[in-house]
Amino acid sequence: MMKELDIEKLQTILATKKKITLLPHKNPDGDALGSCLALYTYLKEKHDVKVISPNDYPQFLKWLPHHEQIEIFEGGYKGDMRRFIQNSDLIFILDFNALHRIDELGNIVENSKGLKVMIDHHEQPEEFDIMYSDPSMPATAEMMYYFIEKLAGKESFNKDIATCLYTGIMTDTGSFRYPSTSSNTHRVIANLIELGAEKTEIHGNIYDSNTISRFKLIGKALQNLVVLNDLRTSYITLSSKELQECNYKKGDTEGIVNYGLALSGIVFTAIFIEDREKGIIKISLRSKGDFDVNQFSRNHFDGGGHINAAGGRSELSLDETVAKFNQIIPEYQAQLINTK
Ligand code: 5GP
Ligand code: MN
Repeated sequence: MMKELDIEKLQTILATKKKITLLPHKNPDGDALGSCLALYTYLKEKHDVKVISPNDYPQFLKWLPHHEQIEIFEGGYKGDMRRFIQNSDLIFILDFNALHRIDELGNIVENSKGLKVMIDHHEQPEEFDIMYSDPSMPATAEMMYYFIEKLAGKESFNKDIATCLYTGIMTDTGSFRYPSTSSNTHRVIANLIELGAEKTEIHGNIYDSNTISRFKLIGKALQNLVVLNDLRTSYITLSSKELQECNYKKGDTEGIVNYGLALSGIVFTAIFIEDREKGIIKISLRSKGDFDVNQFSRNHFDGGGHINAAGGRSELSLDETVAKFNQIIPEYQAQLINTK
């Protein structure tokens, strides 16, 4: 049974000063960090709050209001962060719904006495003490808007909160174009603009912060693009050697997967990125219409996500992973051809 969002319980708890941890998923994106930092901005006035990210986040997010106070678990003073989580009264799980998505931090969260509150829009959530789960939502940041409004009223919003939430919704909706973007999403966005979100500036901060090395990487990715017209599928590979040659920095591969879906007639695309350090291939999957990449990833690549956007991984080599993909997809030919 899924637990309903118990807002009154949270209001009662938050009536007095509390210790609170906010957690985005690993490799946090604009939605995860936007949601965390919006909630941080609201809660910090009254409470002892930390945002703890499992690992570092890309440069193009290092302008978000209050991002400088985010503590990075990987490579940081783990003891202090562990103690903070262990002693937290409340732990917010934001933009993810399964503790394995934060690696080592997952165990610490599991063993903390703190009340666990999940706010997330991915499919098939694990159980938490308090849950606000809605896979029909385009972004956790839209849910965070409703959550803060319900928790504290409209007057609790300010420019920083609006900026963080605008960024989260903009990045997770592909700038308001993915199917889950609704008229309500646009109403929320309109409110956020009225609250002070500087839309042109935010857009520029996120999308016009390319570097030459990222452009080289995009060039390489497009050279490597493979198109399987019969299957309405395409895919891109990037080996760790190619990443190195393009002077790869964290965040450089963000969004490259979408090129494969921008081709006329293509409804399913994948990018395979070799991470030699971790000994894995990181996979991103994207689709159009009703072809379900969440299920595809769960079935074959140890991951998940949403119907049209999912991630996964493989412990085979890059070549073997691509061979496995090529072997699997003909099974989906009928579905792919009929995808609307
Ligand atoms: P990306 O390809 O950008 O890493 O991920 C696409 C979407 O799938 C994001 O919403 C991301 O949070 C989700 N996702 C990525 N990897 C996993 C995974 O291993 N498990 C689950 N459940 N979701 C994932
Ligand atoms: Mn999200």
